[in-house]
Amino acid sequence: MLFKSVLVSSVLKNQLISLVKENRISHAQLFLSQAGTHSFALAVAYAQYICCQDRKEDDSCGVCPSCIKFEKLAHPDLHLIFPNCITKIVKKDPDSRQFAQEFRDFVFAKNYHIDMEDWLSELGGENKQATINIRDCSNIIQQNSIQSYEGGYKIFIFWGLDKLYHAAAPKLLKTLEEPEKNTLFILLTENQDKILSTILSRTQLVKIPPLSSDTIAQQLVTDFGISSQKATDIAEISEGNYVKAISLHENSNELREMLKKFETLFSSMSALKNYAIAQASVQQVNYLSVQDTIASIVDLGREEQKNFLRFVARMIRNILMLGSKNENLVKATTDEKKTMGFFTKVITLKNAQPILNECNDALFHIERNGNSVLVFTDFYLKVSKLMLKL
Ligand SMILES: [Zn+2]
Repeated sequence: MLFKSVLVSSVLKNQLISLVKENRISHAQLFLSQAGTHSFALAVAYAQYICCQDRKEDDSCGVCPSCIKFEKLAHPDLHLIFPNCITKIVKKDPDSRQFAQEFRDFVFAKNYHIDMEDWLSELGGENKQATINIRDCSNIIQQNSIQSYEGGYKIFIFWGLDKLYHAAAPKLLKTLEEPEKNTLFILLTENQDKILSTILSRTQLVKIPPLSSDTIAQQLVTDFGISSQKATDIAEISEGNYVKAISLHENSNELREMLKKFETLFSSMSALKNYAIAQASVQQVNYLSVQDTIASIVDLGREEQKNFLRFVARMIRNILMLGSKNENLVKATTDEKKTMGFFTKVITLKNAQPILNECNDALFHIERNGNSVLVFTDFYLKVSKLMLKL
């Protein structure tokens, strides 16, 4: 992985490059980021740069024997440690080494845009309690005590350090406390809160900022060849998370369908309100399409039903922003913004919070296997009433 292929700010890349050039490499660094950044790619690019035999001013050479091994994630002095668990194939005593090939394949398939949930489902573990376990930490101690294969640095990259099993922590701490010469630990996490303070205090913190919307949009155009308008729309709602942006792109039909359902349900509610204040005829409320829409939501799987409720909640929050002239805070696609415009008079500060509460209630019931027909009908009636109250 070359620095030039990593999707993070050049300022951060330059900081890491300077550490190497000035020979100030700290023996333990904690890379902290939110989900969906290119942090793993950055860790590998940094490690590759350290080991490169023909380092350039601002990147690895990409062609020396060390770089070639790094490109395959197969350098003998690069050790990858990540959450793992018992699976159908590894039936007992799992550790990262036994999943090395699966992990490499996963990283390459995702072009380094890796996400913990995706990895756990890739593992197909029978229990979801994947951890970096005691065996992983014992292996590190063993590796740490021997010379590096190629005479340079030994580099340990931990991905998902927040999943370190608590009983394994003392072993890791001991290693961090007594570093061997030319050994580097790069610890990656998306949850600083779950990292032991004893580990935090022994590492140098490297904060990786979320990706900007522009960066995400440009990368979507490069990776998928979509129009820049579409890419900008997706980037707007991906919260600086490129993994999410990819998923939104791959499921853009689903997003369009959700918007259509939202429009049907909420415009019927608005029409009902207009009727109540004698501005419209009740015929404007197309109950047949409301019924069809609720039936089509009920036909979806539970995960998609939950997605729809989260989508509604996002729309409501954004409508509120739009109505209170905070347009710059609205995170939405062009089509969504257009739809939102219709509802700024009927969804306001007075009823937005109660409507969001109804979204949460419905989510709660769907998660606990409530009857979807009842949950969504009830949701529709309650929100209609809240809109009437305005
Ligand atoms: Zn090289």
